[in-house]
Amino acid sequence: MQAVWKGGKSARYNEQMNASRSDVLILGGGVIGLACALYLLKAGASVRVLEQGTPGCGSSHGNCGTITPSHAPPLAMPGVIGVALRSMLSADAPLYLNPRLDGPRLRWLLGFARHCNWHDFARATTARAAILQRSRQLLAGLVHDEPLDCEFVEEGDLYVYRTAQRQAADARDHVAVLEGLGIEVQRLRGEQVEAMEPALKPGVVGGLLHPGDARLRPDRYAAELARRVVELGGVIEAGARVERFGTDNHRITQVHSSGGVFEADRIVMALGAWSPLLAKTLGLRLPMQPGKGYSLTYTRPAQAPRHALVLREASVCVTTWASGYRLGSTMEFSGYAEGLNRTRLDALRRGAASGLREPEGPELLEEWWGWRPMSVDEIPIIGPSMHWSNLLLATAHGMLGVSMSAATGELVASMLGGSASPIDATPYAPARFGL
Ligand SMILES: Cc1cc2nc3c(=O)[nH]c(=O)nc-3n(C[C@H](O)[C@H](O)[C@H](O)COP(=O)(O)OP(=O)(O)OC[C@H]3O[C@@H](n4cnc5c(N)ncnc54)[C@H](O)[C@@H]3O)c2cc1C
Repeated sequence: MQAVWKGGKSARYNEQMNASRSDVLILGGGVIGLACALYLLKAGASVRVLEQGTPGCGSSHGNCGTITPSHAPPLAMPGVIGVALRSMLSADAPLYLNPRLDGPRLRWLLGFARHCNWHDFARATTARAAILQRSRQLLAGLVHDEPLDCEFVEEGDLYVYRTAQRQAADARDHVAVLEGLGIEVQRLRGEQVEAMEPALKPGVVGGLLHPGDARLRPDRYAAELARRVVELGGVIEAGARVERFGTDNHRITQVHSSGGVFEADRIVMALGAWSPLLAKTLGLRLPMQPGKGYSLTYTRPAQAPRHALVLREASVCVTTWASGYRLGSTMEFSGYAEGLNRTRLDALRRGAASGLREPEGPELLEEWWGWRPMSVDEIPIIGPSMHWSNLLLATAHGMLGVSMSAATGELVASMLGGSASPIDATPYAPARFGL
């Protein structure tokens, strides 16, 4: 693909930005849109981001902030559909499927079910691992060089087990897969885990440490990306809700938003879980559903864990930062139903209390929900649209958007700038869904 800009901040750049026109218009100001903006600016493009709220106000705000190449294996594997169907009966199950299935959700679920086999599991794992590992490597440099003040800590992610059964299942499905990809995993005995993490209640039977994982404070990360985007000359239009497109002959000519009408040579759609709603107006049916998750943010408890933890039986993720402490997770498929669900927040609290001596911090700062942008094959959708000549999709990062953000930004900038792709982009291509 030919570069759409000449590089450098020329007179053309200023003229374009003043006239609501830019080289690249990015729809969505979450970590994906902002990382794309940053890498594009660094490559010399003029960039404008349209965000309906404030930068980072979507799924990028209250997530767990773990950077996890260790999460390369997807959810879809043989047996998962049975778990999901049983969860319809239990409103506080970590993986919950709302039984009132509408058409798009049923279609998505059937598609997801088709991916629950070992062949697709291996394909998704390899694709996810490539972008996760590249992103992990880039992120350390980005945080250091820009620099981004976001409480980035490279201390690894620790899985904690209280039942031999769960541990054995992960030893089979998780450890062997990661080791095959060259992702380091350290097997720990129960007493080693307890010695390492005095915040845990006794009764731990074992653990898996992923030393290559890291963590950061995601709201700070989004805010810092936004700061750098503006410092580098990018424009962020907060409160600009994209409403419709003007098109001409397979080209998007205008983007109409509540903040005005904008034009650009290239459009990047990075709307997270909202992507299918806008894509539909362009005739593109993105095979995605929102995967709702929750988090509780506190001031730090006195006995806070040192590592980011996953309490495996309870499926609760625990992240500690210098500035706070978060319990998060749960995956709920209930369409675009907004708002907090008490049952699921209570399940998070109970899950944390089953494993931690001091499961909650002294002061509750925020109860939050967010929509993970889940594609049917759990691989992000990144690349040019087959139908719209100037549209590029950068969405569907599912449970791993923060972890994959830097490599997504780099990949999008290389695609639009015409430079060699740092990783093989084929697995992420929208063309696999005919998009
Ligand atoms: C509970 C929970 C825990 C998680 N933990 C982790 C984790 O530990 N590590 C990890 O890597 N990932 C994690 N994730 C996933 C991660 O949060 C997402 O993958 C990531 O935030 C997706 O980023 P995004 O930029 O694509 O989407 P978003 O952050 O949702 O951004 C999309 C943006 O588009 C805007 N928008 C929508 N419609 C319009 C419109 N019409 N016009 C203009 N703007 C619009 C929205 O306001 C939003 O800001 C977690 C998610 C949840 C819910």
